[in-house]
Amino acid sequence: MSKTVLVTGGAGFIGSCLVRQLVQLDGLTVVNLDKLTYAGNLDSLAELEADSRHVFVEGDICDGELVARLLGEYRPGAILNLAAESHVDRSIDGPAEFVATNVVGTFTLLEAARNYWSDLPKEEGAAFRFLHVSTDEVYGSLGKTGKFTETTPYYPNSPYSASKASSDHFVRAYFHTYGLPTLTTNCSNNYGPRQFPEKLIPVMILNALEGKPLPIYGDGQNVRDWLFVEDHCRAIRRVLEAGRTGEVYNIGGNCERTNLQIVKVICDAMDRLRPDLPHRPCEELITFVKDRPGHDRRYAIDASKMNVELGWSPQETFETGLEKTIQWYLDNQAWLDRIATGGYRRERLGLRELQ
Ligand code: NAD
Repeated sequence: MSKTVLVTGGAGFIGSCLVRQLVQLDGLTVVNLDKLTYAGNLDSLAELEADSRHVFVEGDICDGELVARLLGEYRPGAILNLAAESHVDRSIDGPAEFVATNVVGTFTLLEAARNYWSDLPKEEGAAFRFLHVSTDEVYGSLGKTGKFTETTPYYPNSPYSASKASSDHFVRAYFHTYGLPTLTTNCSNNYGPRQFPEKLIPVMILNALEGKPLPIYGDGQNVRDWLFVEDHCRAIRRVLEAGRTGEVYNIGGNCERTNLQIVKVICDAMDRLRPDLPHRPCEELITFVKDRPGHDRRYAIDASKMNVELGWSPQETFETGLEKTIQWYLDNQAWLDRIATGGYRRERLGLRELQ
């Protein structure tokens, strides 16, 4: 395979972790195309600043000309699509952006990939991969038992999951119609360092630090399967390396927790790691708030295909992963401050004006 890959959304939470692994562990050159929305943060890639194997391009996956130009210039052996609008609550307030990036953006990438791939010499074309990163939310909600497998029918319930489901269908269609060598991964909830503080775990850590209420939707009994972000990125790399084209791979942590359980574990850790905080015990900050509309009750992933076929399993347990995550947020106040003040965006805009 070419030693260069194109990653989209590489300044986001999962994308930045993946870019670090691809460069530092696999020695690949990564062309990182990211629009730098509110969720894109170049601070998360600071350690690659002086590394010539990381080429950052600010741009939109909906810009077909730009994507075609990058493919022609850098000749990547794979495209890994992580660019997305990713927050369910934001999709309820403003779904249009989700359709633009997740549906039209993925379609635009597929079209550019198809043109590029069809012109590649035979051997390079056979080795090329289009890997699309998606979510378990496309499968809808489970009852008390059962798990999502790769053949579970799609029942998306939020504008976010509907847009991701649509993108998955386009990827599938490009394999079946045009033979584009695609791979799709559907993963459960990720957690870890550098997650934008709008998702459950970082919100709880930050609010606990500041003595603010810890808001939990409904009765707190919604169940999610949790996976440490580095394990997700290891799985993506494994699928890229050995996955069969046209296939879907479910990725999960085999770690079901209710939202209330998650928050209680965070509270215990905060009481232990930050005994100096005035708001103790932290659990007293828990507040139940009106449920999210269309809130899926339970997700659980059967990741046995990843395990049996590709030999992948998570390296981190929930306990060790969560401890690492909390410690990272405690140790990286500067990263958080620059989000709180908007500094991570303002400086970037300043740079753009100078160009
Ligand atoms: P994120 O919101 O942290 O990052 C998304 C990145 O995409 C940002 O850097 C943003 O600037 C960029 N982006 C948005 N629109 C763009 C566009 N039009 N063009 C180029 N770049 C654009 O998201 P994440 O949590 O890192 O998720 C990455 C992918 O993984 C998404 O496709 C998401 O659906 C999927 N996923 C996420 C989870 C999770 O728990 N976070 C679980 C399973 C799957």
